[in-house]
Amino acid sequence: MQKIGIIGGGFCGTMTAIQLIEQSSKPIEIILIQKAERLNTGIAYDPYSDKHLLNVVAEKMSAFPDKPLHFLEWVLRQTEFEQADKNLIAQSYLPRRLYGNYLRDNWKEAQTKAKEKRIKISSIEASVMDLDLRETGVHLSLEGKEGLKVDRCVIATGNALPANPVITHPDFYLSPRYYQDPWHAASVQLISDKRPVLILGNGLTMVDTVFGLLERGYKGIIYSLSPHGFNILPHRHGGTPYPRVLEEMREPMTLLESVSLVNKHVKALRKLGISAEPVIDALRPYTQNIWQSWSDKDKALFMRRLRHLWGVARHRIPLHSHDRIQQLRIEGKLVIKSGKILALEEKGSLVMARYYDKKEKRIQVLEVCRVINCTGPETRLANLKDSFLNKCLTKGLLRQDPLQLGIRTDTRTFRILDEKNLPHTALYTLGVLLKGELWESTAVRELSRQAQQLAAQLLETP
Ligand SMILES: Cc1cc2nc3c(=O)[nH]c(=O)nc-3n(C[C@H](O)[C@H](O)[C@H](O)COP(=O)(O)OP(=O)(O)OC[C@H]3O[C@@H](n4cnc5c(N)ncnc54)[C@H](O)[C@@H]3O)c2cc1C
Repeated sequence: MQKIGIIGGGFCGTMTAIQLIEQSSKPIEIILIQKAERLNTGIAYDPYSDKHLLNVVAEKMSAFPDKPLHFLEWVLRQTEFEQADKNLIAQSYLPRRLYGNYLRDNWKEAQTKAKEKRIKISSIEASVMDLDLRETGVHLSLEGKEGLKVDRCVIATGNALPANPVITHPDFYLSPRYYQDPWHAASVQLISDKRPVLILGNGLTMVDTVFGLLERGYKGIIYSLSPHGFNILPHRHGGTPYPRVLEEMREPMTLLESVSLVNKHVKALRKLGISAEPVIDALRPYTQNIWQSWSDKDKALFMRRLRHLWGVARHRIPLHSHDRIQQLRIEGKLVIKSGKILALEEKGSLVMARYYDKKEKRIQVLEVCRVINCTGPETRLANLKDSFLNKCLTKGLLRQDPLQLGIRTDTRTFRILDEKNLPHTALYTLGVLLKGELWESTAVRELSRQAQQLAAQLLETP
């Protein structure tokens, strides 16, 4: 009986296991390995606050590509939504915690189905510390537990913690005033202090952290520092379709051609008083193809010059969350700075944050009581201390793309490529680890399809 190990029990790991159960017509064994807590939810769907919302409307959050309304229908069956209006719920941004419950329910249902199909499933709560390929299969070393051997292994380890920015005295990162994990409740807890807080980063996690601090009753000023200090955008225009831009799209297109096309249509919309979102949303299903058609040079240029702009246009927040953020800025409770952090030093109970202020064009100092890192997941495997992925990189079992965004993989079969660029027969990956290959490999909409296709691959190959 084929034994499939899945490392990581977040959305990707859980949905790959569920798809294996759905699609398998013969007995198999599936072992889901997830480090302590967060089985079935990963970091995204186990938030510490109900104020942390999905950034996609409910009708687009199905975990099953063939059942597009699966999540919406599940929501409407929950007691608190029984009386709710279906059309309104379909267009609403629901709490991410609710989505975590949905995934747990899917997992429970799949377990029942597995029993009926005589598929053996188990979950192990442990961290995978190392991985080796031998003739007998994939050998996994687990922290505090006996090792494990599987025939094939799916790496679904998802989002790593943010990297510590380079500063003059990196020993600061050992300070209790520093929070590297912005998804952990500790980052906003026990803050009786009224002195300012510094958030590094200016994206969706910054917004979650601001709401988390306020929910805990924090009354001080919150600073956010990011390279450009762009305004975070709301979801507007209610999903207005704009197919016009697609009519002019050619494949392949260079970076310059892609940017010219976007600029032309954004300008056309602005003349009508409409902002850029319909253009970005229209291109969204094609961004993987566009990325793949660019040369390495174009990809590197995009990362240097346009990544942050794209991030702002792509990663938007619900309108009411945006209103709240704007209000906090007007009241001076949230101050968004653009620049580069240079040094963080503890002085008694304070942290002196020295940074280059891009607007003022000079070095400035902020006195804060804690620093929370919201700069986004680290993707450079060599920087992931103690990670088995780093060890696999050193052993030559896998490689990173030139921009170190993910793992080199054959995206048709999900097989990880070895040092000689050949696909492994026993090692697979999906999700954010495919960012280097696909760029957009983050949202439920693409990950659910990847899980479905990967399961088919695993079952197809003898
Ligand atoms: C805060 C946040 C909010 C998001 N909101 C949305 C949204 O609203 N809509 C949307 O479409 N997408 C959203 N996303 C995108 C999100 O990345 C995907 O939807 C999805 O959750 C990614 O799942 P994953 O399984 O790849 O990764 P993860 O959720 O990161 O899961 C990976 C799991 O692997 C485990 N793991 C890692 N290393 C090991 C190891 N060595 N041994 C054992 N276990 C290990 C981790 O503990 C983790 O639980 C959000 C992402 C974040 C970070």
